[in-house]
Amino acid sequence: MQSFAGKFSTFFLVANANFMTQELKDLVADVREQVAFLQELGVETLDARLPEAKTSVEAAAQPARTQPVRELPPLNLTVEAPPKRTSAGSRLASLPSLTKRAPAPPMEKIEHSTTEQASTPAATDETMFGDIRGLPDSSETMQDIWKDIGNCTRCPLHEGRTQVVQTVGNYQADLMFIGEAPGADEDAKGEPFVGRAGQLLNKIIEAIGMKREEVCIGNINRCRPPGNRQPTLPEAHTCKPFLLREIAVIRPKVIVVLGNTALHNLLDTKVGITRMRGQFHEYYGVKVMPTFHPAYLLRDPSKKREVWDDMKKVREYLNSEGGTRNAESDS
Ligand code: URA
Repeated sequence: MQSFAGKFSTFFLVANANFMTQELKDLVADVREQVAFLQELGVETLDARLPEAKTSVEAAAQPARTQPVRELPPLNLTVEAPPKRTSAGSRLASLPSLTKRAPAPPMEKIEHSTTEQASTPAATDETMFGDIRGLPDSSETMQDIWKDIGNCTRCPLHEGRTQVVQTVGNYQADLMFIGEAPGADEDAKGEPFVGRAGQLLNKIIEAIGMKREEVCIGNINRCRPPGNRQPTLPEAHTCKPFLLREIAVIRPKVIVVLGNTALHNLLDTKVGITRMRGQFHEYYGVKVMPTFHPAYLLRDPSKKREVWDDMKKVREYLNSEGGTRNAESDS
């Protein structure tokens, strides 16, 4: 006959085995879900070196960053005088609707807007950051910037908004995403990218082994345009300086610009996303990767493959020597 201690340890072993079986089942279900999503993104092979995602406990244990945070990487600014466009042909070549297009050079120079001018002059990056080669040191906090934004009425978008939608996430993030403007869900919740496009963005972030809370997410415009139309150039120019001030506070290593509006306004270019995506561009010492907007992926899921390719480059850069915070602060 089994002793009480024997019965107890048998019970414990069975309970433990049941618990582990359930845990294993949950793990398999999680992996299945992740693999299904990666397949949806067009991933065919996976390298085994996924970056370790920090737990919130580990992240909280990181020493707080003080300003100035770190030296910026060697400056190699390519925000410079626009290359002269010589013919209508070269302009047409940048239209995304054309299928035959010369491949973009590895580090493309940015073609600045020349024709459209904001009717409301506002501090743009050129006037704000001036002729400097890296982000300026900032002694501001995000709260200082939001205080300046206040109950903003600087552009007509304030008329239809419920609330100003501020940049969210980790304000010390290495990775920042910039979209266009809030939609209905974001306007209601007061947080960028919380609707369907936002859920897809979360999956894209998770696909590179990160969590939404680890990155920073903002928009060119902070108020919802009526009917979700694109913000006009003056509206974008009015709001953009606040985003630039935030970038100087956050000092991300990589900014992913989502879609044409974010691309055109941040990099002051008119070249389309189809041509600009997939390669890093430099913005005051920060690497900028343009890629398709998640809302566009919802309309055309076949483009997920390209987004995955772009995000792999972002992950590789962040994992590389130049992209790790420690490597930089050690030097
Ligand atoms: N689309 C955007 O560009 N931004 C959001 O916050 C939501 C949808």
